[in-house]
Amino acid sequence: MPEGDKPDEGPPADSLSLVADEVRRCTRCPLSLTRTNAVPGEGPPGAAVVIIGEGPGRNEDLQGRPFVGAAGKQLDGLLKDAGLVRDDVYITNVVKCRPPENRRPTEAEAEACHPYLERQIVLLRPEVIVLLGDSALKRFLPEETLGGAHGRLFTRGGLALFPTYHPAAMIYNRTLEKVSSEDFKALGKILVGHGPKGLPRA
Ligand code: URA
Ligand code: SF4
Repeated sequence: MPEGDKPDEGPPADSLSLVADEVRRCTRCPLSLTRTNAVPGEGPPGAAVVIIGEGPGRNEDLQGRPFVGAAGKQLDGLLKDAGLVRDDVYITNVVKCRPPENRRPTEAEAEACHPYLERQIVLLRPEVIVLLGDSALKRFLPEETLGGAHGRLFTRGGLALFPTYHPAAMIYNRTLEKVSSEDFKALGKILVGHGPKGLPRA
């Protein structure tokens, strides 16, 4: 084919690394002004499970990686209850930049960041999306409360959603620790009997 005659290839296909690059440069909301590093999320592109937290904390902001601090340790224990390890899941957050003083992200910040989350979900096509805590619940199941919805599977707009408590909330609450653990065991059972991707290590 003569040079310059190449068919129009259109825009480049979307990818997780493209989303991550855009997140790292993003200035769509004021959290960009106070972040050290944006935290796009991480995990294998074939992950059957996507886990959505609230937003990066101090350690996450310093390292640019999700759930590396105390809440991350709690999360690792819960994943084990579900028969999962980190390499089985893609972990991300409602907002990709740390809210100052670890305050909850505002609705406007969550809304500004939502397109990145949507693209990640479209690219990953997970079997199940685990919603950790209220911020993630409000994004996907705004009419539900955690008390009533935790540990149950919901289907909305073609997505399978599994809300549970945020692992940071259980650090000083033994009761919640037990509840979260039971939720993740239930998640493990759901995954074993679920779809063609199934559980990598069921
Ligand atoms: N808490 C979150 O919600 N997300 C993280 O990445 C770390 C702590
Ligand atoms: Fe952009 Fe999201 Fe960071 Fe706000 S939180 S600056 S929308 S990446």
